[in-house]
Amino acid sequence: MSDLRLMAVHAHPDDESSKGAATMARYAASGNPVRVVTCTGGERGDILNPRLAEDPHILADLPDYRRKEMAAAASALGIEQVWLGFVDSGLPEGDPLPPLPEGCFALQPLETTVGALVRQIREFRPHVMTCYNELGGYPHPDHIMVHKVSMAAYEAAADPEAYPEAGEPWAVQKLYYDVSFSADRIRALHEAMDSRGLVSPFAEWLDGRPGRPERVPTARISCADYFPQRDDALRAHATQIDPDGFFFMVPRDIEAEVWPYEEFEVARSRIPAEAGEGLEQDLFAGVVPEGLDVTALVEYGSGPERPAGEDSA
Ligand SMILES: [Zn+2]
Repeated sequence: MSDLRLMAVHAHPDDESSKGAATMARYAASGNPVRVVTCTGGERGDILNPRLAEDPHILADLPDYRRKEMAAAASALGIEQVWLGFVDSGLPEGDPLPPLPEGCFALQPLETTVGALVRQIREFRPHVMTCYNELGGYPHPDHIMVHKVSMAAYEAAADPEAYPEAGEPWAVQKLYYDVSFSADRIRALHEAMDSRGLVSPFAEWLDGRPGRPERVPTARISCADYFPQRDDALRAHATQIDPDGFFFMVPRDIEAEVWPYEEFEVARSRIPAEAGEGLEQDLFAGVVPEGLDVTALVEYGSGPERPAGEDSA
């Protein structure tokens, strides 16, 4: 048992199950409180499971359906989940791209969205938080906004002057980006399938890869024992995840043998990195259980990009 707390900020219901899910299940199983904050209700998601695409019950109230799916996924992972209460911005498609829908998450003033997340942080008091990198990990306006809001809330939650109505200040000690889809992982799975005479789904993905900047993970969490929970959580999002689709293409025994991890990249840290070579094996490595004094914070290593406040639009 441990009282160290992990908070993961995600854009839509289902993102938590495809990014870092087995890591969360692992910590939850060891008694760590784990809470997912889902920024939007996923109102503009398409039904991606062909078996359910025409289901009249689902079409009648997709947001309600997705709330039930989310509850089932959280229970599969053994975690808590809360909604931040904003509306899905949708993925704009077309040339030129259409404007974002009025009132959506990505168009909210930062003061509103950051304030809402600061309140969550000060209430749950996570030692470690995860979010997406500055590219969103995936170019959806809500994912990019999750990055901006999380970076700003990491700063503001610890600042006694900021959002005084949102609770007592709390300093998250480390903030990580999810690195679920690293080229190393995809390559390892591709080669493992190839060498066993199986058709790899990743050939095209890898062809499109050269020249793209790669993320550099700094933490690698062994969590293959929790892949079954991750898969249950993915399947719980029945409207969003096709059980014959992308997430289930790699045979699970191969995955557990070749890539039994999930990876993260440290973006901010208020504690010194532990001495030693190589990747961290625990997101809580080095954290101070009783919390940090918010009047004496020091920032240690940070990612390559600029602080959130300087991000260009
Ligand atoms: Zn998403």
